Amino acid sequence: MFERILVANRGEIACRVMRTAQAMGVEVVAVYSDADRGAAHVALADRAVWIGGAAPSESYLRGEAIIAAALETGCGAIHPGYGFLSENPDFVAAVAAAGLVFIGPSAAAIRAMGLKDAAKALMEKAGVPVVPGYHGANQDPEHLAGAADAIGYPVLIKAVAGGGGKGMRLVEAPEVFMEALESAKGEARTAFGNADVLIEKYIQKPRHIEVQVFGDGSRAVHLFERDCSLQRRHQKVIEEAPAPGMTAEMRAAMGGAAVRAAEAIGYSGAGTVEFIVDGADGLRPDRFWFMEMNTRLQVEHPVTEAITGVDLVEWQLRVAAGEGLPARQEDLAINGHAFEARLYAEDVPKGFLPATGRLAHLAFPAGCRADSGVRAGDEISPWYDPMIAKVITHGPTRAVALRRLSSALERTEVAGTVTNLAFLGALAQHEGFARGEVDTGLIARDIDTLVVVPEPGPREVALAVLAGLDLLEGAPEAAGFALWQPLSREVRLMQGGEEIVARLTTLSSGAHDVEIGAVRVEARRVGGLWRLDGEPAAPVAVDGRRVTVFAGFGLSFDLIDPLDREGAAGADADIIEAPMPGVVKAVFAAPGQVVAKGDRLAVLEAMKMEHGLLAARDGVVAEVLARAGDQVSAGAALVRLEAGE
Ligand code: ADP
Ligand code: ADP
Ligand code: MG
Repeated sequence: MFERILVANRGEIACRVMRTAQAMGVEVVAVYSDADRGAAHVALADRAVWIGGAAPSESYLRGEAIIAAALETGCGAIHPGYGFLSENPDFVAAVAAAGLVFIGPSAAAIRAMGLKDAAKALMEKAGVPVVPGYHGANQDPEHLAGAADAIGYPVLIKAVAGGGGKGMRLVEAPEVFMEALESAKGEARTAFGNADVLIEKYIQKPRHIEVQVFGDGSRAVHLFERDCSLQRRHQKVIEEAPAPGMTAEMRAAMGGAAVRAAEAIGYSGAGTVEFIVDGADGLRPDRFWFMEMNTRLQVEHPVTEAITGVDLVEWQLRVAAGEGLPARQEDLAINGHAFEARLYAEDVPKGFLPATGRLAHLAFPAGCRADSGVRAGDEISPWYDPMIAKVITHGPTRAVALRRLSSALERTEVAGTVTNLAFLGALAQHEGFARGEVDTGLIARDIDTLVVVPEPGPREVALAVLAGLDLLEGAPEAAGFALWQPLSREVRLMQGGEEIVARLTTLSSGAHDVEIGAVRVEARRVGGLWRLDGEPAAPVAVDGRRVTVFAGFGLSFDLIDPLDREGAAGADADIIEAPMPGVVKAVFAAPGQVVAKGDRLAVLEAMKMEHGLLAARDGVVAEVLARAGDQVSAGAALVRLEAGE
């Protein structure tokens, strides 16, 4: 076994890998960027090496700097995690050339699966069913249109170099094929530097079922399937294992195909073979097709670990160190059911806009596995994926595991940034999902009911008032409350863009009444614990003037300072500002231009996504303060409108 390894990643996956390595007695070296000096993965490591600036291209994608760090610190191997350099064959070759072990497959195996078209051709030869379509070399638009006609509409255009759902276009009819082709190629060229596409039959109401494989370079086993059908815009949101409704016959067919795929390329280490499944008539062995292979540890690997009892990172280290496959196929079995939900800093009602912020508070309940790369006090920076954690639950049956997921999400406490927690909670309680009726369109179909904006009730408001004024703590006999008459005052708070006015009447240090409109809430301390109208108070976190009440997936309130009413009263409609740090992609406004409310005035690129910035009212552009290409910080003014009347 290695004495010391370097983990060439950050965030939750770096922490995840380090924990297993350390448990195996292997020392770990972290690498970090300027933005990650105080990050959790750095704190966890035995040593850490600085490798450059915050942008991934200046640090986590700098293969030579990472290899130099590994050599300098006496590491025997490099674990790439997922993302960044994990599927970069040139990096793998450079690691080997430096005399180090890459914990993962060979450069040749990664290359074989690197492009979707070549991978499909290879799989066809290995006898693995592939999605019907065209994956040839002829990229002439007329030829591709002809191929689409032959396949039959609807079709899906995919970037051969694609990943993360980018460069993909659904085309419903021949009239719009050319337009979709152009836009898919444009996106692919920008994102991957390769504009080539393939055309696939679009499977209606499909399920995404993938098989975890593990190889030793010649032989492979599979660790059953995961269902990742709960997706938003081709990105996974909740994953589970095993797949609901899976039959022994279908599992054997899919597992066998995945093992053939891995063995065909001499696969070593952990990998995932992704299939698209037509589940319209239940799961049938002739209704699944190879989509792509991810030649790395997958984000959702913990659900497989939960049902098999295998630590996949431990297996990765053992096989990379030269041991054979740790288990035979017949040694592996499924125990119960598991779910994983991806918790992100994102503003769901605002179209899942990635968010940033300092985590004032972060706590996960007992009864779940929470894989996280951030701690309370850490910053969700704009430089990287805004994932906060993966919440994983296990149970003897699907129903029990799902109930545990729902309960774990309800008891997860995050303050300091908006999150998708309420959205995940709504999904965990979705009736169709509970029945196992999953397909990749579920979220889009039910998006309106899933995007719930939690509204505080009077008890939550009352609690926020007391916490914000620091009245929950302190000894019952605190000074100043031995008053001859009740003390009454008005308190104002902002919640979800609305101002709430409450009247607080203090009866004693352990008794307050809070009136919100016509409703009165009685807060009483009983045996050292607060009760509101007799109900136990929810947990709260206070950070300056912000109070987060952990009810309804977290409700945050901002106490308004009576001296500072104007500032808190809402955004200035004259200024269009950057909602987060990023790069200005385009500006569509010029001084003197007449604009209408909702007009797109600029596009900001942040966290791999583009965000349109709209005029908040009708008006005339007074000033344009940013140009395409500018790097701007959150709150930077981009366009100013002439003062309204
Ligand atoms: P999974 O298949 O497990 O959902 P994804 O394919 O969504 O994983 O991506 C896993 C990780 O790799 C994520 O952190 C994502 O940000 C990163 N990633 C995916 N595709 C790319 C890409 N083309 N370039 C850079 N990072 C990527
Ligand atoms: P990426 O590399 O971006 O992960 P994939 O090829 O794995 O791209 O596809 C991502 C998702 O797109 C799938 O999980 C599925 O939801 C959808 N998808 C892919 N191919 C098809 C298809 N032929 N028909 C319907 N949906 C598809
Ligand atoms: Mg995929």
